[in-house]
Amino acid sequence: MPPGLSATFPNAILNLAMYQDTIAAISTPLGEGGIGIVRLSGESARDITEQIFNNSLSDHRLVYGHIIDPQSGETIDEVLVSYMAPPRTYTLEDIVEINCHGGIVPLQRILELVLKLGARSAGPGEFTLRAFLNGRLDLSQAESVLDIVQAKTKESLRLAVDGLKGKLSNRITAIRDELLPVLACLTARIDFPDDEVEDQEVPGPIRSAREQLQKLIAGSDAGIIYRQGIRTAIVGRPNVGKSSLLNLLLRQRRAIVTPIPGTTRDTLEEVANIKGIPFVLVDTAGIIESKDLVESLGIERSRRAIDQASLVVFVIDTSESLTDTDRKIFRLVEGKTVLAAANKSDLSSEADLSELRWPIVHTSAISGEGIERLENLMAELALGGTITPSDSLLVGNMRHKEVLERAEAHLAAALKSVEGNMPEDFVTIDLKMALDALGEITGESVTEELLNMIFSRFCIGK
Ligand code: GDP
Repeated sequence: MPPGLSATFPNAILNLAMYQDTIAAISTPLGEGGIGIVRLSGESARDITEQIFNNSLSDHRLVYGHIIDPQSGETIDEVLVSYMAPPRTYTLEDIVEINCHGGIVPLQRILELVLKLGARSAGPGEFTLRAFLNGRLDLSQAESVLDIVQAKTKESLRLAVDGLKGKLSNRITAIRDELLPVLACLTARIDFPDDEVEDQEVPGPIRSAREQLQKLIAGSDAGIIYRQGIRTAIVGRPNVGKSSLLNLLLRQRRAIVTPIPGTTRDTLEEVANIKGIPFVLVDTAGIIESKDLVESLGIERSRRAIDQASLVVFVIDTSESLTDTDRKIFRLVEGKTVLAAANKSDLSSEADLSELRWPIVHTSAISGEGIERLENLMAELALGGTITPSDSLLVGNMRHKEVLERAEAHLAAALKSVEGNMPEDFVTIDLKMALDALGEITGESVTEELLNMIFSRFCIGK
């Protein structure tokens, strides 16, 4: 049994042969770069490397040399190779990292060589999976690795690093430790009714554990927003200043703006870091302007963009009176969380804003006036309150939130049974279910399906 899995692990998920072989992958992004890394992990990592490297490996040292095809004698690339012997390695196995030149051809050729010599091509996240299976990381820590790679703002990075350091795991373990003696005592009383069983307070620890879970659940919406970002549609009729405002929100922070690949093609989407929250800004300008709004297709597409957004910034030109198009947009955004940007505040004010039922910020994309207030309000509305992530533990993972909710519901049921003086096995069943659920966060109780689901989201080589 791999040490990362406790005896409660329900499925024999791993065929041990697969778990013990040596895996290899290109661990840097493909493309032309200064350096590229081929990584190997497993028993034969060192042996395979020695067959293609013309210098001696040295534990935890970077060694200069050349990769040579042992069959043809051809020099493939000039490289630096690090060999790391366990236990001080990412996977707790032998690891070799071959730093070569970062072009596709040298990387591919070196990978092909190590595969030919017996390594297997690693699956997505398989290095991290091994770190988990070998007991170096628990499951929530392993998931944090992915969050670190994907972090879009300093805050989301900090939350992810907290996760990797085990902040959530430690909290969950502490909660489990409070509940375990209660379960042990109740089970002993059921199994050995005639024996003297040490007295253990029952409702107190359950209540305390439940309160802690409730706190974690309460913070999770904010945590998820810090991690995943919040889709925000910028809407308004042509020429009110949508693009100007969007550019202002993006340009001030050009360094941390990244386009998101693979998202809706109808609209322009970019991520702006506003108060540490990644706002996925969707400019609907194209949609609303391409077709007359009266035309059903135009309306349908804008509605979809608005529907998918969690927040809408409705831009109005205050230098003109509100028009019918403005009012059509009123209807489109009905039911959404809306923030009105009364733009062009540097010009004389003509619009009657009393028709607007949403919070209003006066902005000028020309002078920059009101932008800071707009950002503050966007952040406030996104978080739906006043939570700041400074040093609080925020759960930022949907899966974790769902598990916490399930555990909390079982604790609520257990408490109800205690308070209603129900037979003790009513309490123990729910307690057990709660403990099992919490084990799904740290990885004590997971299924193969869940592991596949989690690690398939990783990239190859991580
Ligand atoms: P969009 O069609 O809604 O994206 O609007 P644009 O951002 O393209 O802006 C339309 C015009 O209004 C441009 O000429 C902008 O320079 C101008 N504009 C945008 N915002 C402001 C503002 O706050 N004040 C003034 N005076 N002009 C603005």
